[in-house]
Amino acid sequence: MIDLSQWHQAIKAALEDYIPDEEEEKIGACPKCGKKVSPDFKLCPYCGCRLS
Ligand SMILES: [Zn+2]
Repeated sequence: MIDLSQWHQAIKAALEDYIPDEEEEKIGACPKCGKKVSPDFKLCPYCGCRLS
């Protein structure tokens, strides 16, 4: 039995790896640490800064 939320996360992770360079500009950057983060994230996965 597949956990749907885990499945969804696996797909998202795979898609994020697949994004070509020119698409990366559309991805937000953390205001605190400056790392690229998905706009879907509520928190920066690198520093934990809250993203709006
Ligand atoms: Zn950050």
